[in-house]
Amino acid sequence: MVKGYEVVIGLETHAELSTESKIYCSCKNQFGLEVNSQVCPICMGMPGTLPTLNEKVVDYAIKMGHALNCTINRVCKQDRKNYFYPDLPKAYQISQSDVPLCENGYVDILSDGEVRRIGVTRIHIEEDAGKLLHSDKFHGSSLVDLNRCGVPLIEIVSEPDMKSSAEAKIYLETLKSILKYLDICDCKMQEGSIRCDVNVSVHKPGEPLGTRTEMKNVNSFSAAVRGIDYEINRQIEILEAGGTITQETRRWDDVKGVSTSMRSKEDAQDYRYFPEPDLLTIVVEQERVDELKKQIPELPNAKLLRYVNDFGITLKEATFVSESVELAGLFDECTAKGKAAPKSYISWIVGDLVKYLNDTGKTIADTKLTADKLIDLVDVINAKTISNASGKKVFAVLLEQDKAVKDIIAELGLSQVSDSAALEKIADEVLAANEKSVADFKNGKTNALGYLVGQCMKASKGKANPGMMKEIITKKLSEM
Ligand SMILES: [Zn+2]
Repeated sequence: MVKGYEVVIGLETHAELSTESKIYCSCKNQFGLEVNSQVCPICMGMPGTLPTLNEKVVDYAIKMGHALNCTINRVCKQDRKNYFYPDLPKAYQISQSDVPLCENGYVDILSDGEVRRIGVTRIHIEEDAGKLLHSDKFHGSSLVDLNRCGVPLIEIVSEPDMKSSAEAKIYLETLKSILKYLDICDCKMQEGSIRCDVNVSVHKPGEPLGTRTEMKNVNSFSAAVRGIDYEINRQIEILEAGGTITQETRRWDDVKGVSTSMRSKEDAQDYRYFPEPDLLTIVVEQERVDELKKQIPELPNAKLLRYVNDFGITLKEATFVSESVELAGLFDECTAKGKAAPKSYISWIVGDLVKYLNDTGKTIADTKLTADKLIDLVDVINAKTISNASGKKVFAVLLEQDKAVKDIIAELGLSQVSDSAALEKIADEVLAANEKSVADFKNGKTNALGYLVGQCMKASKGKANPGMMKEIITKKLSEM
């Protein structure tokens, strides 16, 4: 509820599929190449050219359909969506209108510790348009790059089941995580691999749904949050002032933090959809649908539950790790091969590793860390060969150099001193040098013990086995 209003949000999310080639021609599907270098007569929309459907696009979309619990329409068609815009040389986009490839699904999201089921109306396949480039260098005109024309997209349409911008963000993050797990989209937000249109309306509890507006040009999840919050407040202000909401399409300007009207319902475009005559009906065999289902890996929600229920990992850590296919992959390999408690691996992953990745902008694959090395590190710490503090030093080396744990320990001279004669010698020296603390301890000031152990650790340059050191000091104090 915002200011006494209930909020209703639905999202249309476009994800670029990471196929080798485009959807209807053999041009390369790759971002960032020289302008208009990845084009051919088909994707440039030359008259007389014929499209051929890239079957991988259908496979990828069906995988997403399975992951989002959809019904797969084994027989479906593609349609022309007609509109004129300079980035679309054919003046129509091939999409799917009345029969999408996948429909009637859902995805569960975790919002404030509560599971919320968000309906997925449909997933359909379509082609992307080109991109207009605006620059002062072009003497005030715009130029068009057609490399993106024909890049395959899936559009995932949600039911209007979200109640806040925070929920919309979690939904988007969940979709992103699933796309990554399925390895069908690179999810590079800065390259526009995932974009969304947002539908928002507000109403008083118990009253019918309000008039909704659609917002376009939302290019990041944080922009979605800002755009939705802006729209909610804008609509409430109008209603509170006695006005009515106009059904319209608005454009979000994330730099200025405002949305402006693009077109109202009256001048909404009529896309004159009709079946694409140059492409065959899509017919997918049941065996292929089943085979694709078998290829779906364990998805983030299932992993999260397994981490919490089987491993006793906290919900927060389990959510964090399961959302990332990379972090979860490392953790899963550690728990499958290693013998230590799963918690001991996860603390390295969510702690030192994530900090390093955030600081450097690297991925795990860019580092030299492997599951086997992390297992070795946890083992030597558990065996008290090195202290946890020394472990951090070893871990820092593991990230950047391809070396074995035992070699790093030897090179850095980090082996813990567990030789009791050596530890006793340190204890005697420290006790002799700290008569006041010893007296304090004898007078009941128990925290003097911690101080004395700390002095011993310092004297050993951090190498003393802290457990043994404490035992020895305690024993000596009791004998004094
Ligand atoms: Zn082409």
